[in-house]
Amino acid sequence: MVLTLLKAKPERKLAKQICKVVLDHFEKQYSKELGDAWNTVRDILTSPSCWQYAVLLNRFNYPFELEKNLHLKGYHSLFQGSLPYYPQSMKCYLSGTPHRMPSERHQVGNLKQYYLLNAASLLPVLALELRDGEKVLDLCAAPGGKSLALLQCAYPGYLHCNEYDSLRLRWLRQTLESFIPQPLVNVIKVSELDGREMGDAQPETFDKVLVDAPCSNDRSWLFSSDSQKAACRISQRRNLPLLQIELLRSAIKALRPGGLLVYSTCTLSKAENQDVISEVLNSYSNIMPVDIKEMARACSHDFTFAPTGQECGLLVIPDKGKAWGPMYFAKLKKSWTT
Ligand code: SAM
Repeated sequence: MVLTLLKAKPERKLAKQICKVVLDHFEKQYSKELGDAWNTVRDILTSPSCWQYAVLLNRFNYPFELEKNLHLKGYHSLFQGSLPYYPQSMKCYLSGTPHRMPSERHQVGNLKQYYLLNAASLLPVLALELRDGEKVLDLCAAPGGKSLALLQCAYPGYLHCNEYDSLRLRWLRQTLESFIPQPLVNVIKVSELDGREMGDAQPETFDKVLVDAPCSNDRSWLFSSDSQKAACRISQRRNLPLLQIELLRSAIKALRPGGLLVYSTCTLSKAENQDVISEVLNSYSNIMPVDIKEMARACSHDFTFAPTGQECGLLVIPDKGKAWGPMYFAKLKKSWTT
């Protein structure tokens, strides 16, 4: 069965079309923000055949046979031994060459064995350093990739997954049910709040908070099929930093003193990344940046990072032969004093 899973899919016609208005917009903005690196980033972003999907193994239905086959296929294990915090229970594999495993079909009564993802999306999860028994909030959780990754790292005492969009909330529930055993699903709280209200609803409750914010999502925006809507988003994009800051304010309120918060996006945009974090750091005296430069050094074999000018913020950029980005993440700590 595993061998069937590993068989490459027949080459499909490339359905993805690049949306020219969006590419032109990126060209102007990102050539300024990233300088020479933009040329490579653009080449990778516009070539879906170069995107490398990582394979996150599910510790709740561990695929030993599949793991052997991944080794035979030349996949290597990500992060092992390199990061200051790396839970042995999280196993993620990446191929040295662009390759995408087929997605697994859900079979009633069987948990899925692996989840395909952008490997860079594990970095914000790892930066959170989740330990067994901690209370954790995933403020913008659908479709659930990062919630699932959090549960590969540790057994939180309480996991609260929130998602504002009701359709995406269904998708989140499906992810949890397909990968997580029922007794554990039962202790996960799922809510449908506007994340901006969470701080008032549950002040100073959580040891750890993840804000994987709604953002420009460069990769999917670039391949929008409706160019009129895509063009509309260029002006709507200006409103995103305000929403992101409001979500962060709410997250800070929900965090207990001494707790850790990680903010992440999948855009290259400085306005939605570094500027949002600078704004928050400038307006709170009890929020401190946490230095995460060591993470970049430790995993530079698999990821390329662009300079952010921040010790607490890293930006993974798409690069040849590396796990894909974009993924920005920043780590903050709430101090005990106000
Ligand atoms: N963390 C998810 C994962 O790893 O699978 C991806 C999250 S996605 C980047 C951002 C999510 O935020 C979207 O599902 C979006 O519907 C949700 N969102 C948008 N506005 C929100 C709000 N005001 N409160 C909470 N979630 C919101």
